[in-house]
Amino acid sequence: MHRLELRSLALAAAFCVTCAPLPPQRAVATLTTSDITIGLTSDPAIHAVIRDISAERIRATDSALVSFGTRHTMSDTLSAARGIGAARRYLFAKLSGYSNACGGCLRVEYDPAMLQMRGHPDRPLVNVVNVLAWLPGRDTSRVLVMGGHYDSCICARTDLGPLARFEATQDAPGADDDGSGTAAVVELARVFSERFPRGLETSVIFVAYAGEEQGLYGSTHLAQQLHAAGYKIVSAFTDDIVGNVVAEDGTVDSTSVRIFGAEPDNGPSRELARYAWAAGTIYNPAFQIVPVFRLDRISRGGDHSPFVGLGDPGLRFTERLENYKRQHLPTDDFAHVNFGYVANVARLNASVIGTLANAPAPPVALARRDQASGGARWMLTWRPSPGAASYEVLFRRTTAPTYEKIYQAGAGTSFLLPDQLDDGWAAVRAVGANGHRSLTSAVPPPCPILTTRADSVAAGDLIRNCIRPPAR
Ligand SMILES: [Zn+2]
Repeated sequence: MHRLELRSLALAAAFCVTCAPLPPQRAVATLTTSDITIGLTSDPAIHAVIRDISAERIRATDSALVSFGTRHTMSDTLSAARGIGAARRYLFAKLSGYSNACGGCLRVEYDPAMLQMRGHPDRPLVNVVNVLAWLPGRDTSRVLVMGGHYDSCICARTDLGPLARFEATQDAPGADDDGSGTAAVVELARVFSERFPRGLETSVIFVAYAGEEQGLYGSTHLAQQLHAAGYKIVSAFTDDIVGNVVAEDGTVDSTSVRIFGAEPDNGPSRELARYAWAAGTIYNPAFQIVPVFRLDRISRGGDHSPFVGLGDPGLRFTERLENYKRQHLPTDDFAHVNFGYVANVARLNASVIGTLANAPAPPVALARRDQASGGARWMLTWRPSPGAASYEVLFRRTTAPTYEKIYQAGAGTSFLLPDQLDDGWAAVRAVGANGHRSLTSAVPPPCPILTTRADSVAAGDLIRNCIRPPAR
């Protein structure tokens, strides 16, 4: 040991023999590890939205989607009765009907893109068309994206060979994958437009994606378009495969759902997973949330991924038990979807959307060692968030799945953290006058994704203490 360190240890020991014990500093609220609600509050207006969600309506939408025979991205677009064209016109009409009922509060539109199908021997150009319903918020620069994919496939038909995923004429019911998620999104558009015809604080886009089964074409296009147009993505959710409750071996689970939140542990998707875990537990405690701390199931993908890849917070919602004998096959039929279960997933979505879309933007936070305290403490500072009435600082051990302490930080923009940040993660969030909390911004944050000089300028001093992923 270095001599100086020995000397300072001796001094400290001598000092502590004579000093009175320091009073322990306590957090305003210390949470137990089993309390995963992280101080989010319950709002009667959100309970009302959740009560409105109807399993019967979700069932009717899924039934209509299945009736189009196939919704393959390359299937017929002209028929009124069969193929993806008929399916998207049905979705457009249904969402337009909700808009008419709320005085035009939803902006319903097609989002088309001519895209080349990779992996197809002819590389055909295909018109990949998402259907969007915008519910504009008071701040139209920030958007929540709530999606499911309406295209279907029978790509797992091994007898069709390597071109199975381009088979666009035979029946591909896709009742669970992803008629269930699309029907949930349509129902969410209905209940939010009825309850909030003048919008929430933040805009919400309800999306039915196409081209998912060939490689996330529709969601990749939308994510890029929203970024290019300068929108700030508050969250990007996909409900994908949310209606099966019986596994291949006969195991049944209709009481829990998985949410997939990508790395890193201090990144926006993980913070969003903690937020969704909390909000869902508050509003529907009987429906258990099983957070999975990875981007998606192993070797599988979903429509949240293109957003996550651009640095946005994204989550995937998927049934607890999948049945691979009923995915990407003609057996993915209407009879095997449990609509009471799908409605519970939609209620979970609604609790997160209602809370997050009514909250201010998260503050951009920084941490630096406090030299005055000998470097053991950390000073957290943040830029003010528009609409924030106050701020809270949260803390957890690195091994804790969610936050364990909450400190009230008042209306200021700095806080001296009593905990040793080297051993944990802290986060800052904004509290609106309505009591809704923003997403947490972890400190230190992951380093931002910088692709342009403008990105670098915007990131500013965030770069100073951000954490880079290890080089690969
Ligand atoms: Zn899917």
